[in-house]
Amino acid sequence: MLGPPGVGKGTQAEMLSQQLHACHLSTGDVFRAAAKHHDCMASPALAQAIELMHQGKLVPDGLVFALVAERTTCLHCSGGFILDGFPRSLQQANDFDALLERLNLQLDAVVSYTLSIEETINRVSGRLTCSKCHTVYHLESKAPATPGICDRCGNALTRRHDDHPEAIRVRLQEYAAITEPLVEHCRQKGNLLNISAASSPAGVLATTLTGLYALAHR
Ligand code: AMP
Repeated sequence: MLGPPGVGKGTQAEMLSQQLHACHLSTGDVFRAAAKHHDCMASPALAQAIELMHQGKLVPDGLVFALVAERTTCLHCSGGFILDGFPRSLQQANDFDALLERLNLQLDAVVSYTLSIEETINRVSGRLTCSKCHTVYHLESKAPATPGICDRCGNALTRRHDDHPEAIRVRLQEYAAITEPLVEHCRQKGNLLNISAASSPAGVLATTLTGLYALAHR
């Protein structure tokens, strides 16, 4: 899945993985989980990655790829796999293509979500996430029944470290400069689905499923 920060990739990946019984692999979730475990700071590479993430910058390609390559069980899931937030650079895409070839697997589709810059900023700056079950809320469009508390599991809602204005600006720049060129790279491979993420999560999911079905049956 491709798309700027805040476009809803995580929400869509979660819903799609439930529909398709596929494995959801989010590289951002891997780094956020690592950031909660202080013993990971024993690894200078991981500590540096977490610092870069908090600034809104991309983590070096080699480290991200190593984390994905360690998780090949996900890639062999019988329901398939959904990659959320990876690859994010041409280098990562090329390394991943080589990995898939070695594993004799292929990507059925690359879904690229699009959204206006104003709505992207609005979505990221109002986002709250449950610290336990990771359900995503929004201060205006999907506020929890009790402020600061997850409707689903009752745990505290937190704002992501990289959802502050300076990091959002850096993340949007990184997306435009490093990740967006991947859209063209994928278009040339013929399995790209461009989907507007402007509607509700359920509406975007329906459009995504229709597009995936059409791609599979063309
Ligand atoms: P996300 O949750 O996908 O927005 O990712 C959060 C942060 O994790 C990003 O802003 C990067 O700092 C880091 N990250 C996640 N995936 C990648 C990737 N494929 N390449 C580089 N950095 C990544």
